Amino acid sequence: MEYRINKKTGDKISVLGMGSGGVASNGFKAGVELLQNAIGAGINYFDLAAAEGAAFPIFGEALKSVRKEVLYQIHFGADYDTGYRETAGEQPDSSLVTYSVGDYGKTMDPERIKRSIDWQLRTLGTDYIDYGFIHCVDAVSGWEEYLASGIYDLILDYKRQGIVRHVGLSSHTPPVAQRVLDDADVDMLMFSINPAYDYHYGDKYGAGTTEERSALYQRCERDGIGISVMKPYAAGLLLDARKSFFGRALTTTQCIQYELDTPGVLTVLPGLSLAEELRDLLHYLDAAPEEKDYSFIRELKPEQAQGRCVYCNHCAPCPAGINVGIVNKYYDLALLGDEMAKEHYNGLDHHAGECLTCMHCDESCPFGVAQCERMQKIAAYFGV
Ligand code: SF4
Ligand code: SF4
Repeated sequence: MEYRINKKTGDKISVLGMGSGGVASNGFKAGVELLQNAIGAGINYFDLAAAEGAAFPIFGEALKSVRKEVLYQIHFGADYDTGYRETAGEQPDSSLVTYSVGDYGKTMDPERIKRSIDWQLRTLGTDYIDYGFIHCVDAVSGWEEYLASGIYDLILDYKRQGIVRHVGLSSHTPPVAQRVLDDADVDMLMFSINPAYDYHYGDKYGAGTTEERSALYQRCERDGIGISVMKPYAAGLLLDARKSFFGRALTTTQCIQYELDTPGVLTVLPGLSLAEELRDLLHYLDAAPEEKDYSFIRELKPEQAQGRCVYCNHCAPCPAGINVGIVNKYYDLALLGDEMAKEHYNGLDHHAGECLTCMHCDESCPFGVAQCERMQKIAAYFGV
């Protein structure tokens, strides 16, 4: 497994994580086995905004012996009917195996949220939340309601009590996410990222222009806010040639590489239900570079993406030894006011000023970046 560090919290997070959608779809035993195999492969990061409450007892059973080694994202605003009723006194079957719980629903009622969080913790067999999430804010009015109803204060209160360790935010909408990041001290953003959404071939979860989305990722990278990726395959559409926005299917490995190349991203969280899906996810770790190459998406990139470096390093190797992607990333971050970017740039082995103007990167860049010219600009900007 590969791990990345959340700069704000110091948590070591597996680049491959898991959502909870699908975990319960083949029953309790199969779900437990799936999660235990994921843990065995080094996965340590799990999102608990489940499609159905039945996922919780499965997570509780599978991860109870390794609770301290895993990290949970738990959402303040996600609710599961029967869990709520059970907390209110309607005790269901005491056997977790046959425990019947309801579907996911969203609530802004703080009392109901408290009961739901209490039920989720008890069912998971834990007394703390690694990342307590501001749940699914996609409108400024929704964020204002979240604040006014005291739910954000509730998260902070739980943090003071040590029940919540860090604060997260889930959103699909860049300007709204930016507003929440202005108002709240967020340590992790869960955002819907994939090549279709970034290049405006997405569905309703791919909100925002390419520039707005890119600015959000850059901000997270600059401020050390980690990103966990939801919808990494655009709900499976990218994996199906008949439905793919790019006219042909991408593999899960290509999607994951694209997302892990995105600034700020720490981990990708697909929902899994089958052992084969887990094997396919883990294949990313052993895949050859050509299997990870997603450059064919250039065929359908929109005008606004033309000429923008996405740090993918498809132009490597550079004969001068320059890491073209990372040099561009530090340059963009410095322009955005990241004070550490210059220091990181200076610490590289090779700098833009060493460019031999060989034009190799211009010729091989699938995104049409005039990189040779850009190297001169970067060298002048940093003075090296
Ligand atoms: S110049 Fe092109 S190929 Fe090279 S890192 Fe940037 S986007 Fe990727
Ligand atoms: S143009 Fe410069 S940065 Fe690009 S491959 Fe050639 S030497 Fe490297």
